[in-house]
Amino acid sequence: MRSLLGFRQCRRGSHTVDHTQTDRWSNAMQVALEEAAAAASHDDVPIGAVLVGPDGQIVARDHNRREARGDASAHAEMLVLRSASESLGDWHLDGHTLVVTLEPCAMCAMAAVWARVDRIVYGAADLKAGAVWSLYNIPQDERLNHRCDIVAGVAADEAEAMLRDFFAQRR
Ligand code: ZN
Repeated sequence: MRSLLGFRQCRRGSHTVDHTQTDRWSNAMQVALEEAAAAASHDDVPIGAVLVGPDGQIVARDHNRREARGDASAHAEMLVLRSASESLGDWHLDGHTLVVTLEPCAMCAMAAVWARVDRIVYGAADLKAGAVWSLYNIPQDERLNHRCDIVAGVAADEAEAMLRDFFAQRR
């Protein structure tokens, strides 16, 4: 289902978003949503990520562990990028796709560019900190030496609902 935010992204001409791609990534996004749910068990904001290898298999899955680790950089995306690089023994992650429930922040978007991932697929937009569309568009900045394809709004409603419930319970 296309969310309102995804629809808005669709109309923004400067940003390449292909909604025909959303079905292709829905299974991986479901795994990322399972990871997001696990984050809430240790009081971390429910954000999950998976890294899909060139053959379509999930090579890493994790969730936000900022509170659990007391580490501001322990975002789900950073953890899966690190895990995959450690397994491969290589920082080049060409051919990989980063799938994450919430639009990546500037740190994670830049890390994806550094790792040369082919594609970033995300669910909900993060209007306060997103660096793929909301505040910045780091993965498609032509001044950088690598660009990632973007697929936005995959299972955005589920990701948004999980975040909303989490913050509602903490109020
Ligand atoms: Zn991040």
